[in-house]
Amino acid sequence: MVLKVLALNIVEDGDSVEIPKVGYRDRVELNCQTAYNRSIVEKALRCGCFHCGSTFAGSDVTVWLSECDGEDSACCPFCGEDAVIVGTKRFPLSTALLSILFMEWFPEEYEAAKENFTNAPEYSNRDDYLRKGVPFRYERGEREFVGEVGLWVDSVFSASWNEEFDSLLPVREEELEFADAGGEVSVKACFDDEGCYTCEIKSASGNLLPYAPWSGRDQDLLLDLSNRYGDDLKGLIVDGGFGGRMRLYVEREAEAEMCSRPLDIEIDWMPGWDESQIEKVSKAYSEAMGLE
Ligand SMILES: [Zn+2]
Repeated sequence: MVLKVLALNIVEDGDSVEIPKVGYRDRVELNCQTAYNRSIVEKALRCGCFHCGSTFAGSDVTVWLSECDGEDSACCPFCGEDAVIVGTKRFPLSTALLSILFMEWFPEEYEAAKENFTNAPEYSNRDDYLRKGVPFRYERGEREFVGEVGLWVDSVFSASWNEEFDSLLPVREEELEFADAGGEVSVKACFDDEGCYTCEIKSASGNLLPYAPWSGRDQDLLLDLSNRYGDDLKGLIVDGGFGGRMRLYVEREAEAEMCSRPLDIEIDWMPGWDESQIEKVSKAYSEAMGLE
């Protein structure tokens, strides 16, 4: 029997959690922790899976891969992958750490999620992106997009085009505060009273983001869609302003019911799974699918 498990336990880090600087050797070392780890996982109060971003107590692990040449390896109780770590002294467990490892060790799944998502939480910068575990939270639903534009970080923030701003101006610190913000935004493009093209992109919490459409074609598309859909035009930004892009959609009542992105993994019942594990996974699945 094959199941897709949707309900994850992604716990956002607090602002005080440091963003770990993980080098190549550290990545390898942390990855090594996913194998032969039964004795450290079993006694850990908190473990994490860098395949799905969930955190849990070591005692929640009920499925183990038996290894022929050492201790068993833990399988994540949420997604079944053997990507469970407890962290190290230098790299204590955090959602930011799991995010970084996921992007490094599962690049194809990460890229595919960014390619196909229809929903993602708002984030104000890259640190926020990692602490919130956004790499694990790209969701895929039924939403239809009406267009996509490239973005760049507008060095004059006001996003106005005229002679005065055509010269190169140095980027000011404060303009970069949201320079890699993303997720859900509202979008409005128009010609202002003086006939200048303006484009306003605001985050869900109301911050004006320093982005502008990449090309003339992108400007035209935004203007056209803005005229057509007014306040219902929304955007989803991926990869921030540096080579970033924004998908555009129209907020309609019918689109309010979204379903979560199914993980691109399938779990086969493993020989070692007992009744309680099967029941737990089935319950999580039913809840996520709205069957209960
Ligand atoms: Zn997992």
